[in-house]
Amino acid sequence: MQRKQFLRYMGVTLGVAALAACGGGGGDLANTAIPATLAAQAATDRLADPAATVTSLSPEEIAGLKFMREEEKLAHDVYVALFDLWGANVFSQIALSETTHTETILALLTKYGIADPAAGKAPGEFEDPALQTLYNTLIAMGRPNLIEALKVGALIEETDIHDINEKKAVTDEADIVNVYSSLLCGSGNHLRAFNGNLLAQGVTYVPQVITQAEWDAIASAPAETCGG
Ligand code: MN
Ligand code: MN
Repeated sequence: MQRKQFLRYMGVTLGVAALAACGGGGGDLANTAIPATLAAQAATDRLADPAATVTSLSPEEIAGLKFMREEEKLAHDVYVALFDLWGANVFSQIALSETTHTETILALLTKYGIADPAAGKAPGEFEDPALQTLYNTLIAMGRPNLIEALKVGALIEETDIHDINEKKAVTDEADIVNVYSSLLCGSGNHLRAFNGNLLAQGVTYVPQVITQAEWDAIASAPAETCGG
């Protein structure tokens, strides 16, 4: 599916004739044939909007967007569940921001014609098995008391920062880089919010995913206004 999607955009970008001519890759050429109707549609799209440039995304870029769509949903779903458990406003306020984040990624999925892994998924449901396991683990971790729930918030934000940086490093598309930068900015604010709440409870959080130096740098930075 991802490869087919990728080739579709290759077809749009290079032209179908060029794609056919460079089929020297051999073995899987039969799998890469582009249906005539799709090719015709692509040509029509280009005629309809000659200024449009449809870029080809790498498998890594596609996988990154799909993962982040679900990881931002995970943040939202966990915070909604923890707000229901503990009633602390930090969870409901940050959940609103996570809705914006996951919808911003959805807009990129739509733009690039990538299937949405979160389509039709209920709160707490994920296509990626690793994220499903993570969700279940985080909910269990946040259940004992408010402090443990706030630690879950801190853990989600440092995980998010780590993962976004990883996905950002494998894309050269300006629109994707901009979205990831905006999400990183938001995660920094969220990290500081959870850290502040934990300090108010007399708890010093120990980072589990990013380094202590990275944590300290983000935790001590001023609040930012995030674009995007
Ligand atoms: Mn987020
Ligand atoms: Mn966040």
